[in-house]
Amino acid sequence: MSNTDLIQRFYFAGQPFRGAIVKLQNSFVESLNGHNYPIAINALLGESLTASVLMGIHLKHNARLSLQARGDDAVKLLMAEAVIQQANDELDEPAKHKIRAVARLSDQQPLADKACQQDFQDLMGPGQLAITIEPEEGERYQGIVAADQATLAECLQGYFNQSEQLPTLFHLATSDTTAAGILLQRMPHDDGDQIDVTDTSTSQNIWEELIALASTLTNKELLEESTEKLLFNLFHEHPVKLSPPDDIQFECSCSQQRTASALMQINPLEIESILEADNEIVMDCEFCSARYRFGRQDIEKLGLLSDQTRH
Ligand SMILES: [Zn+2]
Repeated sequence: MSNTDLIQRFYFAGQPFRGAIVKLQNSFVESLNGHNYPIAINALLGESLTASVLMGIHLKHNARLSLQARGDDAVKLLMAEAVIQQANDELDEPAKHKIRAVARLSDQQPLADKACQQDFQDLMGPGQLAITIEPEEGERYQGIVAADQATLAECLQGYFNQSEQLPTLFHLATSDTTAAGILLQRMPHDDGDQIDVTDTSTSQNIWEELIALASTLTNKELLEESTEKLLFNLFHEHPVKLSPPDDIQFECSCSQQRTASALMQINPLEIESILEADNEIVMDCEFCSARYRFGRQDIEKLGLLSDQTRH
């Protein structure tokens, strides 16, 4: 079976390291559909989508993981989101990752379309990157890092190495039709309990060797080679264990109901004036461009609902 959109996790026998390769093709192209972003933004969104899936590598439960970059230059906002649904053996459902992304660009500082590989920091201006993990059950977690490196991968690497104290390598690459990435990470001690690492200095040496090997990877290889071939080419001297790959697809979580609850946040007077002018309220999903329409009757029903929930 050839799968074009997947995450392949891998481990090294007896060592507290984990890794994953993510490949996005259909899901990447579908995420960009209808948006007409400049090439540099397509590339950044591809990197963000890939990173948002890679960063969920350690999660064992259902969760939503998002990467949000706020900037003050050509890019105002970049957001990529991965919703992870773990496998359910009882229902015989495999694990699934659903991704979506959006960018908001500045009207004042239009981007030159020819520049494909623009510096991340230059695109963002003084910006911030927020990494948010929202488990289906349990506490939300958020980490913030400055968007002050030449690439998104370097920002994320800095975040994991410094804030999280988790030595991590990120390599992200995109073409017009593919986004791909690899992550290599030393596991925190509580995650590596089951691994009996007797010799930490040997472990450190192996880690450094793996990082050096992974650093030889080119964008072209990452984008074009199969995950098996990539792992073999890079690490054939080290026994690599693979988990079954998980599928990734583009899927937006918007709905009439969710849009309605966003509508409830708007001032009723404003809603009334739009209704008087247009007879309906039209809301487009920023991620997938789905259009939701609310007539006066719909709004009145929503008004009732919100009164009930206020008790
Ligand atoms: Zn949507």
